[in-house]
Amino acid sequence: MIYLDYAATTPVRQETVNELLNFLTHDGEFANSSSQHRSGYNAKNSIQTATNQLAEILNCSPKEIIFTSGATESNNLAIKGIAYSSQLRKKHIITSETEHKSVLDTCKFLASQGFEITYLKPQSNGIISLDSVQKAITDETILVSIMHVNNETGIVQNIKDIATLCNEKNVLFHVDAAQSVGKISIDLQEISIDLLSFSGHKFYAPKGVGGLFIKHHVRKKLMPLFHGGGQQFGLRSGTLPTHQIMAMVKAIELQRNELTEQWQHLIQLRQCFLQELSTLEGVIYNSDLQHGVPYILNVSFENVTADSLLIALQNDVAIASGSACNSGAIEASHVLRAMGIEGNRLYSAVRISFGYDLSINTVTQAAQKICFEVSRLRKLALE
Ligand code: PMP
Repeated sequence: MIYLDYAATTPVRQETVNELLNFLTHDGEFANSSSQHRSGYNAKNSIQTATNQLAEILNCSPKEIIFTSGATESNNLAIKGIAYSSQLRKKHIITSETEHKSVLDTCKFLASQGFEITYLKPQSNGIISLDSVQKAITDETILVSIMHVNNETGIVQNIKDIATLCNEKNVLFHVDAAQSVGKISIDLQEISIDLLSFSGHKFYAPKGVGGLFIKHHVRKKLMPLFHGGGQQFGLRSGTLPTHQIMAMVKAIELQRNELTEQWQHLIQLRQCFLQELSTLEGVIYNSDLQHGVPYILNVSFENVTADSLLIALQNDVAIASGSACNSGAIEASHVLRAMGIEGNRLYSAVRISFGYDLSINTVTQAAQKICFEVSRLRKLALE
């Protein structure tokens, strides 16, 4: 089985697994980091060291990071947390039609609670124009939430300029960076983001751990979703999962040291994949190859539905149809729809995503298998 579904989740490196195991067993630092004894202090110190490392990587203060269960939770906390704390004053939130469901459904829920939500439409390549954000901001706007890298198409949003605009307009800016943190370097001093969500399992850390960057001045404006022991500045109560945090920071550290080489390698992988696909007729790219990341490719094969292709490939090549996050349901992608893609092209769209540990040989083999199955399915349809 060749795995080309890295945007859904990634495998954990052995070094990261080893780090995780150091914080689970009796001979390791398994203690509760809130406990008032030496073992507890040790666990707390380890988490603090890891937080400092993460803060150094993102170029922010360690006090601006909290750990969560992943990007779904971080997105919920960022958006609901800001909405609830300012609901008596302002009630307008801006987001885009191409966000992940964890942002869209949070906004939908807030709309049912009386908030007004503006969903920005992207250009045909998936980019949200700065102009559209500017036009949507009113005196009532509290928050703009725009993702960094789209999980279905790989398009990269212009978060730097949107951040500057929001800053000028005195509106908070949240970025869902689940598909970029750990794979693209992000400097939080350089870009004026107020809240940034990330998820470990997208960058070779285990599932179930992620985080939220909360700019210092925003902390007091965020209402927590969980109440309890008051951990993490009272913003996210609950015993800290030391092993998960240590593993995630180990994973991002390993990534950080390799980012440039990985990027070059991923460009090569995509290039050789495209090369193989160029032997086929009727291939339509839904990803903008110029403005997108090299590790996510969305493509439609004419006259082959995504579900039939996925079934044909299921034991050989792992790829995704639309977004894998919709509970496995095959439904047309809201992202592609928002980009104006319709009809057969919409239902034949598949997402292929690459990871640093793939070889050119493996990707070529996978591409050849995909070409073979596409041709076979097309022939079958004609019979
Ligand atoms: N946002 C984006 C852009 C994603 O790709 C994902 C994962 N598919 C999420 C949020 C949710 O992340 P998690 O699985 O960590 O909850």
